[in-house]
Amino acid sequence: MIVYNCPLVPFEFFHALRIPFKRIEPISIEFQKLHPNVCSFCRSAVCSVKPTDVLVWTDSCDSMRRAYDFLSQNVSFYLHIPVKNDELAVLSLSRDLKRLWEFLKTVFNSEVPLSELERVHRWFIEKSIHLERLIEKDLNEAKTIFEELSNQEWVGSVARKGKSVLLLGSWANSKLVEIVEKAGGFALNATCSGPYSLIFEAEPARDIFESIARRILNKRLPCGRFASTRELKMLIERFRPEAIVLHTAKFCDFYHFDERLLRELKIPFVTIENDFTNALEQARTRIEALLEDTKDRPRVSVKAFHFVGIDSGSTSTKIVVVNNRGDILFEQVCRTGADPKESAKRLMIQAMKHLKFDPQESFVVATGYGRDAIDFAHARVTELTCHAVGVKHLYPDVRTIIDVGGQDSKVMRIEEGKIVDFVMNDKCAAGTGRFLEIVSSILETPLQIMGKESLKAKTQLSISSVCAVFAESEIICLRSKGYSKQEILWAAHNAIARRLVTMYERVKGRPPVVLTGGVALNEGLKRALEELLKVEIIVPKNPVTTGALGAALMGLQQKL
Ligand code: SF4
Repeated sequence: MIVYNCPLVPFEFFHALRIPFKRIEPISIEFQKLHPNVCSFCRSAVCSVKPTDVLVWTDSCDSMRRAYDFLSQNVSFYLHIPVKNDELAVLSLSRDLKRLWEFLKTVFNSEVPLSELERVHRWFIEKSIHLERLIEKDLNEAKTIFEELSNQEWVGSVARKGKSVLLLGSWANSKLVEIVEKAGGFALNATCSGPYSLIFEAEPARDIFESIARRILNKRLPCGRFASTRELKMLIERFRPEAIVLHTAKFCDFYHFDERLLRELKIPFVTIENDFTNALEQARTRIEALLEDTKDRPRVSVKAFHFVGIDSGSTSTKIVVVNNRGDILFEQVCRTGADPKESAKRLMIQAMKHLKFDPQESFVVATGYGRDAIDFAHARVTELTCHAVGVKHLYPDVRTIIDVGGQDSKVMRIEEGKIVDFVMNDKCAAGTGRFLEIVSSILETPLQIMGKESLKAKTQLSISSVCAVFAESEIICLRSKGYSKQEILWAAHNAIARRLVTMYERVKGRPPVVLTGGVALNEGLKRALEELLKVEIIVPKNPVTTGALGAALMGLQQKL
């Protein structure tokens, strides 16, 4: 089997030699032996290469070069792809292609003549021209041609149903497409795993290797290393998508440059950073929120008297019930525990008993991580949208929401009641209630009084690390140096606040700022944020239930 890392390879060789070939794929394992600054795609993709594979490896970027250093022990060929597209580049690539052709023939003991390679090259060009035309006309037929040429599974939607979403950035997989489709969009994949990886301008030349070199160098795929901003803009203008998902790889900067262009184009977009090891849960929430925002919501006929919002979070589940004027009739919180469905059901029964209503007289909207488990809900909405609606209801002028939960934190910038930008942190404890829990156990101070205690500190000590693991040893060290609990508590609150301020700056937050979530009642965090941001922070009376309130109000407003 021939395996290759990037579609800038001579597919014609593989077809002409009739050798099975495939592109290597990330396989959900982070390979630790590579240097930490090698991109996440390479780190997890190298694991899928078997010792028996014959590698054709292009040096498309620095990470690819480093990954090759590791993999070069296999039978392999290193193909240098020049970034420029001038006569010197064509000459150099044609020479390397000729060497590659000889190398593959020797490895596979093949006698295929050059005339066969020329025939396959003509066939490849004809098919590719046809493929480009079909992208706008018939995705089913485009899929067949793409799979025939690349030997790869089609990654993208086939039926044009729902909102059009253009996938840009690094190698997208079918999981990402599935998320877009479930959120109500159809995904056109313009990353290097989509049809654009096979589209180029053909340029006949004297010799077959020069023709293939020109084909590769005339590529038009929106690859972060090769495509210009102008090409990317042309592609976007051609498709006029209703939303864009910019899929980036951790430790790869190429795609972050595209963000600036997307901001200028004013098409709703979201940037997903993939480390290729997680289940893309964060991406799901972000994409759902993106499409909710662009969604023409059908009006639902609801004769309910009680509009129920249930926010099923990783630590706690919250319920809010409002009447048809939007007045809060009932709110309650309980621990989520191992079964999110059970805790939601328990709260629903409590609400029905307290307000004396039947399920038929209610309309339930579920939100939060566990929303899909709540099978009695009539609708599901992401927690981002629900938080925005709930907070906006309480503070109509709000422009930034900082939500700090037990396991995650998010910062949203709101304009005219809509989320225009947001960042989430659900991967590490820094900047979340989890960090406070760790500090609470090291300092043996109950969570409920930590904030108040921190305000008693006489000197303003600082912890340099915002990483929960390093902060733990730093705290132990400060304790042994004789600093008081209060001083260390203040430093810990300040460390969380600094992390949140970075997120605030990323979304270009503006006052009025509302702090919500389970940690919002902590006075230490509020004060630390106020000092760093130099703005007054508003904390709602019940900051834990704003997401559930938003969900209930969305049911009431029949915006689903
Ligand atoms: S992003 Fe560009 S260089 Fe990287 S693998 Fe895809 S096509 Fe190759």
